[in-house]
Amino acid sequence: MKKNAAIVSHESSQNTLLAMQDKERGAQHRSVYGHTRGREHRSDAVLRASSSIWADSIYFDYNATTPIDPAVRAAMLPFLDQEFGNSSSFYALGRRAATGVTKAREQVAQLLNATSSEIIFTSCATESIATAFLSALEAAPEKRHLITSTVEHSATLELCRHYESRGYEVTYLPVDRDGNLSLEQLKQSITPSTALISLLWANNETGVIFPVEKVAAIAVEQGVPLHLDAVQAVGKIPIDLQSLPVSYLSLSGHKIYAPKGIGALYVHRHASYTPLLRGSQERERRGGTENVASIVGFGHAAMMAREKLSCELPRLAALRDRFETNLLQQLSGVHRNGNLSSRLPNTSSLTFDDIDAASALFLFDDKGLCCSAGSACNTQSRTPSHVLSAMGRCLEEARATLRFSIGRFTIEAEVDQALEIILGVVTKLRQL
Ligand code: PLP
Repeated sequence: MKKNAAIVSHESSQNTLLAMQDKERGAQHRSVYGHTRGREHRSDAVLRASSSIWADSIYFDYNATTPIDPAVRAAMLPFLDQEFGNSSSFYALGRRAATGVTKAREQVAQLLNATSSEIIFTSCATESIATAFLSALEAAPEKRHLITSTVEHSATLELCRHYESRGYEVTYLPVDRDGNLSLEQLKQSITPSTALISLLWANNETGVIFPVEKVAAIAVEQGVPLHLDAVQAVGKIPIDLQSLPVSYLSLSGHKIYAPKGIGALYVHRHASYTPLLRGSQERERRGGTENVASIVGFGHAAMMAREKLSCELPRLAALRDRFETNLLQQLSGVHRNGNLSSRLPNTSSLTFDDIDAASALFLFDDKGLCCSAGSACNTQSRTPSHVLSAMGRCLEEARATLRFSIGRFTIEAEVDQALEIILGVVTKLRQL
């Protein structure tokens, strides 16, 4: 049985939960792993994924990471095998690897409607974000002010804290109860010393989409470079950088069905650039031998995301709506977080009255339902999500909040099975 001791140790109801699990384990496994959620019911998902990894879990945590799409894996395999050359090498083996990288760069550029020379491959979005900051700050060393928001991913917040410790002033823009940014406050916080505005496109915990077109217009008007963390937006909503004037944009492979450990930074052709890692690769913009197989996978994933977007967006929104509508109908005391009219189609952030999210996660895990409380990095921690705190949620509300995020391989039957599990677990926790 899967258990997370770190989570459980914090629970006052720990012993009761354990006793309950022990007693009911047999029944749960019969109903959850047996006929109710057996392979027959999952055959659609198995077919969609062409993979057996789905047999034992209902994966509702696509914002944490996505599985590698089988087609992405297939595109990568030759580069993990016979096409192992270094893309900088002169001979044919190296040139074929370089061709793979070039094609991937074009595919990523096409997903963003950018040009391929504006794409730099990195190891992850965290590196992309750090590179964007460095580029903007090195270009204007006299400017010592940064603007971001209170609900950013830790990749940005940690970086801002680092720059604060180096004497920079950082404005953390607040959000309202629905996670919305105030454009007026953004405008007012810009000073002649502002070197960079860095904001999320879409929030990883709530799915709330910031009004990036308006943010970009303000940045252009004030002459301040803008970086967007588009990690959660890419592949889920349309992105067109021909009509959105940003200087930098970060994205990550493992949120669009490519492997972990590959990311990209879009740098507008007129934006300043300073490498974080120096070396000859990536046209001297990012040192380090190219991770060819992952880059090829990322490119393929970008191509698939572009092709599937118009079908996937309404499909996911319909599944999410089915999930939320049924849950709200069948359970009282459930509250949706975030601006419902401006959010990702795949994300539901829900607060359940009178439950402890960590206990729920523990019971869900035992039934094979994967979701998270706040962001993935917070799962082991009892610190309430900074996003929910910024949205004015009290400690109790933040600790009663779960994030469900669906994706390409989610099917209707899984939504219904997840609902069944959630209903059972929440009802039991409320009875305790
Ligand atoms: N930004 C957001 C919004 C994210 O959700 C994540 C990952 O969870 C990151 C940045 C960091 O991405 P990476 O894991 O590629 O460094």
